[in-house]
Amino acid sequence: MRYLPLAFDLQQRPCLIVGGGAVATSKARLLVKAGARLIVVAPSIETELVQLVRDSGGETFPDYYHKKHLNGVDLVVAATLDQQVNAVISTDARSCKLPVNVVDAPELCSFTFPAIVERGPIAVGISSGGNAPVLARMLRTQIETLLPPGLGPLAEFAGRMRQKVTAKLPQIRRKDFWQWVFSGPVAALFERGQSREAESALLSELDNWQHEPSPRGEVYLVGGGPGDPDLLTFRALRLMQQADVVLYDRLVSPQVLDLVRRDAERIYVGKKREFHSVPQDDLNHLLVTLANEGKKVLRLKGGDPFIFGRGGEEMDRLADAKIPFQIVPGITAASGCASYAGIPLTHRDHAQSVRFITGHAKQGKLELPWRELAGPAQTLVFYMGLASLPIISEQLVAKGLNPATPAALVEKGTTVDQRVIVGTITSLPALAITHQFEAPVLTIVGTVVSLRSKLRWYL
Ligand code: SAH
Repeated sequence: MRYLPLAFDLQQRPCLIVGGGAVATSKARLLVKAGARLIVVAPSIETELVQLVRDSGGETFPDYYHKKHLNGVDLVVAATLDQQVNAVISTDARSCKLPVNVVDAPELCSFTFPAIVERGPIAVGISSGGNAPVLARMLRTQIETLLPPGLGPLAEFAGRMRQKVTAKLPQIRRKDFWQWVFSGPVAALFERGQSREAESALLSELDNWQHEPSPRGEVYLVGGGPGDPDLLTFRALRLMQQADVVLYDRLVSPQVLDLVRRDAERIYVGKKREFHSVPQDDLNHLLVTLANEGKKVLRLKGGDPFIFGRGGEEMDRLADAKIPFQIVPGITAASGCASYAGIPLTHRDHAQSVRFITGHAKQGKLELPWRELAGPAQTLVFYMGLASLPIISEQLVAKGLNPATPAALVEKGTTVDQRVIVGTITSLPALAITHQFEAPVLTIVGTVVSLRSKLRWYL
């Protein structure tokens, strides 16, 4: 993001537009809508623009631009047909630390006008940072169709009620109350034009909420998938948007974390091999404590919470503490990495079963039923197996797996940084070192890996 969209309060603020033609007028319309007082400088000024200036309580100067026109204004728009004049205005405004927009010249702007979808006080701005205004406008059309026209009056109504709600409910309960208002009968009444009934419904429910004891918090154990945010479930996204606090792992990708409600508190509880930044016991305790404070706690995990995710232990503690929780499955690394690498995990001609196996060694030892794993017609998927790759390779071959069995490593699967190497069970440990693979890495062993060479081009 090169430009930060901000919402600027321009009520009664003097804004300078240099230029008196159609372009200046279109910017003037926007500024007037936001309550600005227009100052327009141009040797000749269109009639509509003169009228807009008058309506805004501003002033026109039928004159050429001069630096003195910047005195006392809050914001500057250069919309003359002369690019040289526009450039001078931009330089002058910047030297006075005034925000400046030069129409159609992003390099001269300190701010740009986003494409706007407006519903009363609700304003959605779409900025392409000057890269693709047409794309921004196309997105605006899509968003237009999503937002009902009644949204504006509803937002205004909420604005009028806000102080009452703030006075009666503690902060921790307000978000839930407003969610109830916007998704329940109040919004429905309002939509039907029954604003008086909507107001009574809101006020009587507000009384109820005020006299009810605070509800207990809740924990959402959510699988964030292997990395690509497109792989989240709808339910995961919904709960991520409701959380007051999020506890997240090292495996949760930044793009997924970005979708958590902006003002939720973020607590990193990541784990690395041989390094637990928050020991599991403390983490279980933290979940209970936060929920007991009445918070909606999002425990966001990479992949699926119940696959090598210790989700079971965390839920155990919550159940003991009688804290309500919800569990949302996620796409586990095996599914995500296999799909994105073009390796089917089962296939009628290759593998009739698939096994998810931990490759995490304890004190250099990996106790697994190697003979079974070396059996035919199955796919083996090792999680956390990068460090023990030499043991895995040696043991499987020693117990009878064909040394030429295809095998693959997928690093940071499903993300833009995904890397895949394909070799055999014998060559894989050396390949991992040559290519400097780093966690998270998933190991897939089986003849299904040979199918990748055909499928990868279609991905
Ligand atoms: N609950 C997680 C697994 C946690 S164990 C899940 O269901 O996916 C951690 C291991 O998962 C890592 O060591 C790695 O083997 C694997 N892993 C997780 N995300 C991965 C990714 N994006 N790419 C490759 N491997 C991944």
